[in-house]
Amino acid sequence: MATETSALTGLEPRAFWAHFEALTRIARPSRGEEPAIEHVRRWADERGLGVRQDEGRNVVIDVPATPGREDAPTVTLQGHLDIVCERDPASPNDPAEGRIALVRDGDWLTADGTTLGADDGVAIAAMMALVEDESLAHGPLALLMTVAEEVGLEGANALDPSLVTGSILLNLDSEEDGKLTVGCAGSTDTWIRIDAPREPAVEGAVPLVVTVRGGQGGHSGMGIGLGRSNAVKVLGRALREASGTVRFGLVSFQGGKSRNAIPRDAVAICSVASDDEQAFRAAVSASAEAIRDAFAKTDPGVSIAVDTADAPAAPWSAEATARLLDAIALVPTGPLALSPDFDDLVETSTSLGEALTEGDRLTLHSLSRSSNDSALPEVISTLDAVARLAGGELEVKVNYGGWRPDMDSPTLAAARATFERLFGDPPVVTAVHAGLETAVIGSKVHGLDMLSFGPQIEFPHSPDERVSIPTVERFWRLLVALVDELSRPG
Ligand SMILES: [Zn+2]
Repeated sequence: MATETSALTGLEPRAFWAHFEALTRIARPSRGEEPAIEHVRRWADERGLGVRQDEGRNVVIDVPATPGREDAPTVTLQGHLDIVCERDPASPNDPAEGRIALVRDGDWLTADGTTLGADDGVAIAAMMALVEDESLAHGPLALLMTVAEEVGLEGANALDPSLVTGSILLNLDSEEDGKLTVGCAGSTDTWIRIDAPREPAVEGAVPLVVTVRGGQGGHSGMGIGLGRSNAVKVLGRALREASGTVRFGLVSFQGGKSRNAIPRDAVAICSVASDDEQAFRAAVSASAEAIRDAFAKTDPGVSIAVDTADAPAAPWSAEATARLLDAIALVPTGPLALSPDFDDLVETSTSLGEALTEGDRLTLHSLSRSSNDSALPEVISTLDAVARLAGGELEVKVNYGGWRPDMDSPTLAAARATFERLFGDPPVVTAVHAGLETAVIGSKVHGLDMLSFGPQIEFPHSPDERVSIPTVERFWRLLVALVDELSRPG
């Protein structure tokens, strides 16, 4: 018996928590999962379980059915091996080196100064504990452990689909207790590139910097329906409105830092004839007032400022300036369709995430999402039309298809019934407007019946990450009851 000094003393299920704790001592940063892969391989070898691996380093461990359940369909349990390794700079602990110090805080388990790795350590620990527990019944299981999820679903994207043999997949990477997730969005990146001629600045022109900041930003999928301002669009609107009354030449236009986030900052340099400077400032300020009012309820911090720039530079020609501002105005951003299955959920959206000036070229980078694969081509076609009208070109990169909710899924029906039998209340069935590994896996392995659930995890990817202990027990009970239910004969 080990001396019980751990933060996990007395917690059930014991085997789950023992595996969870063992994982905290193993380095498993994204793209550096080898020690964790070795750990699960050794564990599988000790039990005589077959291990398969693809070139993307994703691992599958094949587990035979328990007696009497041999004819049941294979169920794939899936989670990711890597974790986000954030830490407070002053902390002696470091997940990237396998140093996570567990701390019990009432009903919560957290880590001292670092991420906890419950995202997605709970999935790996649950799979291992389930297989070891001989009192549990299940059909053939395939434990699919992906790598590099936290860096753009890299492992899932590299998945060899022949690794997935069953027709049912349970993803164990959800972070909300009481919810069954049955859908998520696929995504496509696009870049509109417009090359436009410049001309010398007019005699005595003043360079002015127009800056937009103060918006709340947020995730460009989950937050797309909240009415937040997009700094790139706000800046484009203010300048295009000003161009209706004052002539100026656009010198540069930049905004946004990430394809995944709603832009919070954007900045343009404009070349304005000195006689027109006051009129330009007045026009931008009139536009700013209307924009602030437009966002008064949803993003009241957004602001626009005009300052003098350091050095004059050659602006785009008058014709090119008008064309570029037209293009920025035409690129859609925001929700485009609501889910037919769930209230208040966006099904299709597009977000203009980045604007970039390089030499004579303006690039506008958008990320468009939908759980409905047939809806996205219309969005991409719109962006292509903008590019063509603006004399530019569109580059399209389809990342992966969506996971479209199947409300008639037999696995969902079984999970609903099991949940209600265990906990008395029905689960919340929902989908998310963001990408999950299930979307990538589902677009490679057709006909998979998929479902995602997990315990309550808060502040993932940050040193405040914590998991609710009672919900881990609920998650565990649902998981073992569901694999039993899905393997029942007849
Ligand atoms: Zn995760």
